[in-house]
Amino acid sequence: MNNTSNTATGHADPAREQRARQYERLHNWLFLADVAVSLALLALLIAGGERSLSFRIEDAVRAVIGENRWLVVAGYVTVVLVSYTVLFLPYSWWKGYYLERRFELGTQTFPSWLWDEVKSLALSLALAIVVFEAFYWLLRTAGGMWWLWAAGVWIVLQVVLGMLFPVVIIPLFYKTERLHDPELEAQVGALAARAGVTVLGMFRVGMAEKTKKANAALAGLGATKRILFADTLLEHFPRGEITSVLAHEFGHYYHRHILKLIVIASLSAVVGMSIADLVLNAAAGALGITDMARIATAPLLILALFLFSLVTMPLMNNLSRHFERQADGYALDCTRDADAFISAMRRLADQNLADKEPHPVIECLLHSHPSIGRRIRFAEEWNARQGRKEVTDHLTSDI
Ligand SMILES: [Zn+2]
Repeated sequence: MNNTSNTATGHADPAREQRARQYERLHNWLFLADVAVSLALLALLIAGGERSLSFRIEDAVRAVIGENRWLVVAGYVTVVLVSYTVLFLPYSWWKGYYLERRFELGTQTFPSWLWDEVKSLALSLALAIVVFEAFYWLLRTAGGMWWLWAAGVWIVLQVVLGMLFPVVIIPLFYKTERLHDPELEAQVGALAARAGVTVLGMFRVGMAEKTKKANAALAGLGATKRILFADTLLEHFPRGEITSVLAHEFGHYYHRHILKLIVIASLSAVVGMSIADLVLNAAAGALGITDMARIATAPLLILALFLFSLVTMPLMNNLSRHFERQADGYALDCTRDADAFISAMRRLADQNLADKEPHPVIECLLHSHPSIGRRIRFAEEWNARQGRKEVTDHLTSDI
């Protein structure tokens, strides 16, 4: 299956590769459908301005909990988010539970899946309330430049979430325990030191009870920075392949990708919020909305930010693929083991049911990582370059 004599596009297991293409195609269509449905729902909520469904929801909330604007914001966000989640629960089940099982990737039981849905709703609700309370407080009090402050709130929240991700969010969904493997810890610790990463612990994440997919990450920021290994990776990947995967993660650190991404995301937040402000003002005129600081205008705000993120997504993906290539280059230079890298890629594609050769247009628009086929060819080219370098080194030493 992962025979290194196969070429990048070699058909190691045609049936499995066919299945990966089906999985990719289906998820591309689902992505399009999700975008279309989200846009339609947001438009439906706000169509009609002050007589729209969104304003009626706000009025109903106000009728129950009174005029306190903080409570009205929290009440509105809760009603909309909970209704949306309940309404779309059958679809979430079909996509997140049924399909994953049909493609033999999902291993989770139904009660465990449902419990995860409850937890993720609670988490989304908490975050949405924080964001909308802050945004609408700024709309009420900060004047014309509210959007700049709002971008600041968004950036701070992203950094806080980045810090909390490995210590709060991951353990909320997966059993997380310290890795007890001195040999692997020493190997990975040496790689980390070489990249200049201060790692505060290595952890084993119990993904196997939910999925067969494998993963590893250097997660967290500052004092929460740690290495996470999925048990699905630890159990199925040989040591050389695990170190290749981790060397790639350290490549992101070595090239300062996290810092660069924070800067770019911050600039994008400022531009996005300024556009959202323009859209809010234009739409307010067109829809005859007199008070933009009412939480009922939230669908407009989300619509503007959602469209902005759709337009910038191909650019962000392009940048992300550039970073991924740099991290792959670092991993190869560091481990000097292209064979382990290539077999890790093949194993990852096989285990995660990734299409090795997605359509180039789809890859350009939607994929944050280069295709596995491209990554394998990159490693083969690296290997060929080393071969040539060895020959020239040999010749010059002969002369
Ligand atoms: Zn990466």
